[in-house]
Order: sequence, then structure tokens, then C-alpha cells
Amino acid sequence: MESDDWPQALPRPGNRRLKRVESGAPWFEVYRAGDGVFALLEPCHYEEVISYLILGDERAVLFDTGMGIGNIRAEVERLTALPVVVVNSHSHYDHVGDDYRFAEVWAFDDDGEVTRIERGIMAPLEYSSFLPPGSYLDLPPGFDPAAYEIRPSLVTRRLRHLETIELGGRTLTVHHAPGHSPGSICLHDNRDNILFTGDTFYPGTLYAHFADSDFDAYLRSFKYLVGLLGWVSHLCPAHNEAYAPKEMLARALKGFQQIAAGQAVFELQDDARVYRFEGFSAALPHA
Ligand SMILES: [Zn+2]
Repeated sequence: MESDDWPQALPRPGNRRLKRVESGAPWFEVYRAGDGVFALLEPCHYEEVISYLILGDERAVLFDTGMGIGNIRAEVERLTALPVVVVNSHSHYDHVGDDYRFAEVWAFDDDGEVTRIERGIMAPLEYSSFLPPGSYLDLPPGFDPAAYEIRPSLVTRRLRHLETIELGGRTLTVHHAPGHSPGSICLHDNRDNILFTGDTFYPGTLYAHFADSDFDAYLRSFKYLVGLLGWVSHLCPAHNEAYAPKEMLARALKGFQQIAAGQAVFELQDDARVYRFEGFSAALPHA
């Protein structure tokens, strides 16, 4: 739903402003999203998920690992020789698919999120809901959608709110932002003031209607994140476009406040109420 104009909308305007870097496999599109920051896009799946490689002087963080359809580790190794730690924005399948290829996988200290990463989603029982026909364009050669699964990975460190991750010459701060899911986090890059928003904000339909979503917490998280905007240059979202102006967070807060006050109109779409705002939408539970 967040990419309901997929694939017609490709390439998206927010990505065209970024410098493209050659990728190793056509499944990925790689862009420079900042100084020492690479965005790894998967535009051939309708989720259009984006993972970020953030380089320090001594090590790198890979913020999410994408769908697990292409080999993101091979892309990462083309871009850096530094040791890489995976940090998951949350545990939804489209962000953790290639976790298993890495020795270090860190996630927020939430039992539900950690359990989902460590359990994985095994084929063939659930694959059809993740890769139905029409949800993807060209798959990598040899990839069998019927065998698609999210492999289990061990979470090697549980992150806390306001914990810092030292990369050498660059520090990332963990900001707990529950709402989309209980253990969702954003990362703030203290050197260049980029805010990596995960699924908390992206230009598309924000999902607040899942069983593990919490609209009130989501609204509180926007209020909290807007309080950080004095230290933010721009946003790097986890879907669709690898750049968004920071003002979008204030707009998202306002939209969610209007929803909470019953002042926003919605349309019913499948299992959700969808509220449309300029630059994003929000999906809430039907009832
Ligand atoms: Zn998600």
C-alpha cells in the first residue's frame, strides 16, 4: 500500500537527486546518501526497502539488511573493507532478510522484536503472502520465490534508548521510536546530523495498523523526534526514497495529531483506514 504506484513511480524523484554508485547485482540500486553513507535500494520489490551502510574510520553499521532476495553482504563488501555490524530498525521481514549473513546483529531490547529475528519465517508456509505474483520485477537468477524464507539470525546485542555506537570519527545514537512496531528505532548520526528513520517515517503509507503497531505510541514518537530536529540535517527513510527533508517529521506529527483529534478524513482500503496527507499517508486499524 505504501508503494501503490509501484513500479510506475520508478525512479522516484527523491533518489534522482542522489549520486548513483554502480552496484554488483541488478537487484540493488546503490546511492550516496551522505558523506560515507550508502543507500542500498531494492526497487524491484514493491516494498522498495532501503538499507543504509554508514561508515566510520574503524567500523561500519549496516542499518537493516533488506529482503534477503539479493546478497546484500556482497554489495557491502564492494563498498567497504571495514568490519560491519548489522543494526535492525525493527524486525519486520523486509528489513532483516540478510541478517543471517552477518556475525553481529544488533536490535532494540524488545523481546518480541528479538524473537522474530531469531525465529525467522520459514518456507513454504508463509512465503506466498510475502512474494505473491506481481509483487516483484526481475528476481536474481536462480532465486526461487517458492523457497523464499527469512532465515533465523542470532541477535548478538540488545540496544537501549540513547545508547551510542562508536564507529570511529562518527557516533550513532539509538532513539527508541515505538509505534510502527514496539521496538522500532531511529539512528542519529552525530557527525553529519542525519536521522535514519527506519519505518517510523518514509514518503509513502506509514503502517500503524499492524497487530504490533500502536498509534498512540507512534504519535508520541513523532513528538519526541520533532524535538530532535534542531540536531537533524535531513532524513534517510527505510522505504521508497533515500532522502527526505526533516520538515516531513513535523508534518507527520501534525497529521497524526489531526487523526487523534478526529479531524482527518480517511478512506477504507482493504483492512485499514487510510489518511492521506501531503507527502505521506497513514494506515490505521479498521475498527
Ligand atoms: Zn516495518
